[in-house]
Formats: sequence, C-alpha cells, structure tokens
Amino acid sequence: MQTATTAYPARPITPAALKELRERDDAGRPAAPFTDTEGGAPLRCCLRRSEPGERIALVSYAPLRRWASRTGATPGAYDEQGPVFIHAEDCPGPDGGGLPFTNAHRTVRRYSADGRILGGRLVEGNEGGAGDEGDPAAFEAAITEAFDDPAVALVHVRAVEYGCFLYEVRRDQP
Ligand SMILES: [Zn+2]
Repeated sequence: MQTATTAYPARPITPAALKELRERDDAGRPAAPFTDTEGGAPLRCCLRRSEPGERIALVSYAPLRRWASRTGATPGAYDEQGPVFIHAEDCPGPDGGGLPFTNAHRTVRRYSADGRILGGRLVEGNEGGAGDEGDPAAFEAAITEAFDDPAVALVHVRAVEYGCFLYEVRRDQP
C-alpha cells in the first residue's frame, strides 16, 4: 500500500459528489451497481483497485465541471465527462495520501484557473512494479513541475490508452 504523503496529494471524488453519482451520474443516467467478480477496477472514490466480490458501479463523471462549479471557472468546451469506477455504496475513501495508480504510463494534464488545458506530460510508470506502487517519484516530479508554472491551478492524472480520468491534484489544498 502506498502511504507516502506528497506536497500535492491525489484527490478522490468527494463524498458529496459520490452521493450524487450513486443516484444519477454526470450524464444523467441512473447508476447500475454490480458485483465485480474479477477485481482490479481503479476506484476513484478510494484510490485503489477493487477486490473481487466488491459492489461497484461504472458512472460518467465530469471532473472539470465539478471543480469549476466550486471555483467559478467557466471551462466551456474544455468540459468533458468520462467513465469512472466507484464503490456502489458508502465507502471510507483513500487509505493514505500517496499518489496511486502509478504503475502504468499516465498523462499529467494541466489546467489553468479558468479551466483551460495548458498542456500535459506523459509519465512513464513502472509496469514491472508491484501492485499499484509503480514509481510515484516520477509522478511527484511531473506534478511539481506542473505547479512550478504559476498559471497551472489543477492537474488531472489520466490513463493513456483510454484517456480516463483517474484523479485530480490541486495547487490549493483544503
Ligand atoms: Zn470507495
């Protein structure tokens, strides 16, 4: 289990947003929970992979829109939504503040305070790493580098092949 803390921790989907997504997702569809028989689904609520037998749901999530609704930004055409796995019922959230899902190549995408994409970087994960530990140091470096640019307010870590949102990292922590 990755437990190291970083200057810019990964942020799971918030409990308030999860509550809404479990009723109706960001595409307006009712959630369809199922029992995950295989396990291994990257859960954006707890920032770990599912275990076989857990009840999960695949829902459409609009991370930039939800972020912007709190900051007052207007991302316009940059708004997008995509599929994410979450637990089907209330869950405890992440165990520790380290960067998860670093065992594969990821895109670290940068956003400005007004919600526009400012570019990104491909980070090569350590696919030979055990579990999800991979190489968090490479991700920490990419995120620190992103925030070295004062115009960057928000970072998304995304899967390369599918483009799926994994988690966000904010310059301003709560
Ligand atoms: Zn969860």
